[in-house]
Amino acid sequence: MSAIASHLQAVNSAIADACKLAGRTDRPALLAVSKTQSASALREAYAAGQIRFGENYVQEAINKQAELGDLAIEWHFIGPIQSNKTQLIAQHFDWVHSVDRLKIAQRLSSARGATSLPLNICIQVNVSLEASKSGVTSSETLALAETVASLPGLRLRGLMAIPAPTDDVREQRAQFHAVRTLFDQLQATHPELDTLSIGMSQDYPAAIAEGATIVRIGTAIFGARRPHATSTPPSAPAQSMSASESPHLNLAEEQSPT
Ligand SMILES: *Cc1c(COP(=O)(O)O)cnc(C)c1O
Repeated sequence: MSAIASHLQAVNSAIADACKLAGRTDRPALLAVSKTQSASALREAYAAGQIRFGENYVQEAINKQAELGDLAIEWHFIGPIQSNKTQLIAQHFDWVHSVDRLKIAQRLSSARGATSLPLNICIQVNVSLEASKSGVTSSETLALAETVASLPGLRLRGLMAIPAPTDDVREQRAQFHAVRTLFDQLQATHPELDTLSIGMSQDYPAAIAEGATIVRIGTAIFGARRPHATSTPPSAPAQSMSASESPHLNLAEEQSPT
């Protein structure tokens, strides 16, 4: 079995254990976060049964999608969204987890158009109130949710959050609990909402205990990430690398991951 296949098996069994411990009979969906990973790594994960993949950089993702067009992958966009990328995101993804402003929601909706299925949307909330993190505050969430729910090209599914990283499991639980509470509030007026996108490699058992319906896991499946293209020193000539070594050559304008 390949390393990726065996990591996937370990993560899926840890998810099952966390559900059992939390007394859950349902299972959260596993989103494999594949930013900076090669198309062949995604193909390997797909061969091991993984269907949903999460990407942070538009052009990098589109390059991989072109290489993986023979696979029935469900593509999720989870990175910060620049308004000049909304057209490409609306055309190339099934889900967007990182909507945090009105203008972006409106642009995604009109770019999706009337002929496609609506784009599945999670609003990104910032529960830890760190100035550096994206996401709307709890008090802004309800208003943005109303707008997203009313836009014809979008289908509001729920909330996404990236809490401040901590090894303290009680602190992880407290932060996820705050997102869960907000989600319950939203569900009171929007009973159709079904998605709580919380939990990464370091904290997904705590997220599952707090009701995660999608966990977004990268490192625990693919191993450590290579640096993104924006952190490549300018002296490294891109044209000397093969396509497989550097699949994200056109990304200088995109942001680095947090
Ligand atoms: C990179 C990333 C992840 C995955 O992080 P890991 O720690 O590698 O599991 C999840 N969510 C978002 C939004 C990310 O950018």
